[in-house]
Amino acid sequence: MIRPSPRPPFPYCPWCTSTLSQDNPFRQVCSRCGFILYHSSSPCMGAIPLDSTGKVLLAQRAIEPFFGQWNIIGGFLNYQEDPLEGLVREVREETGVDCTVLDFITMTADIYGEDGQALMNTYFTVKLLSQEFTPQDDVRMLRWFSLDALPDALPFASDRKALAILRHKIQSHGLHSLVRCHHE
Ligand SMILES: [Zn+2]
Repeated sequence: MIRPSPRPPFPYCPWCTSTLSQDNPFRQVCSRCGFILYHSSSPCMGAIPLDSTGKVLLAQRAIEPFFGQWNIIGGFLNYQEDPLEGLVREVREETGVDCTVLDFITMTADIYGEDGQALMNTYFTVKLLSQEFTPQDDVRMLRWFSLDALPDALPFASDRKALAILRHKIQSHGLHSLVRCHHE
C-alpha cells in the first residue's frame, strides 16, 4: 500500500508553524514570520550506461512502487549536492561501479508513482568504468538492453521519453559520437 505524498498547498509554515496563505499558484507565504514556501519539483538524476554496441543498462526495481519493473538507474539529489556528483553517486549505489559522464539527453517533469511527489528528472548517458557491476541498494537485477528491444515494464513516462530521445540521437548522429567521452 503506497500512501500519497504530501503535496501543495501545505497547511503550516515549516519554520514557525503558523498558517500559510496562498500567495500565487506556485508559492505560499506565512502571515506571521513572512517565510515564503515555494512549490518545487524534487530534482532527480537518471544515468543511462551505454556500451560500444549501443546497448543500455537498466535496473529492475526491488522496491515499490513498481516492484519488479524496469527503470533507468538514478534517484533523488541530496540537498545542495552537485548534480553530476549525484549522478555518479547513484550509479555507484545501484551498480557498485564508477562511471564517467557522457552526454546530456533530456530534462522532464514527472510524478513519482500514482499519487507521488512532483519530480524534475535530468538524464545523461554514462560509461561504466568496470563490467564487474552487481545490483545493490534498491535494485533486484541489472541487464543490458538493445534500444530496439526494451522491456515492456518501463513504468515511468520520463524514462521512456529519455530512451526514445537517446535512440533518436543515435539514429541521427551515429553511436560513435555518443559513446566517446568528452573528457578523454
Ligand atoms: Zn512562519
